[in-house]
Amino acid sequence: MLALLPLLSTISVAMKRFLPNVDFLHQVEYLLLKKKEEIEKQLLKIEEDDPVLSLSLIAESPELGTESWQSEVHIRTMLFRDNLQKVQEQVELSLQRVKNGTYGSCLTCGDLIQSERLKVVPVATLCAACAIR
Ligand SMILES: [Zn+2]
Repeated sequence: MLALLPLLSTISVAMKRFLPNVDFLHQVEYLLLKKKEEIEKQLLKIEEDDPVLSLSLIAESPELGTESWQSEVHIRTMLFRDNLQKVQEQVELSLQRVKNGTYGSCLTCGDLIQSERLKVVPVATLCAACAIR
């Protein structure tokens, strides 16, 4: 039994060293919530600006109501919206991972993602090695 003690203390030191610390998680959560808010605002704005989604815009500016203009803007808007929604999903997933304690671990290999990487890409779910594979 005594022989196990050094091993256990080594493990707990290793866990402390590699687990993202609480301050870091709070920072990340704050950043993610900000980002989430920002995306939600942008998504609302997109709906207001899109001539197909927002009929009032056409009513206000009849000269802008041509079909080609509408479809061009609509396509551009939809691409932008798709991108935003993808980021939104990543942000939601990261927030869930912060809550359930899996934030910072790589989905592929299970290793902890380098905190330097998480600072640059807070929504990263893969470690640098797995991301380039
Ligand atoms: Zn990995």
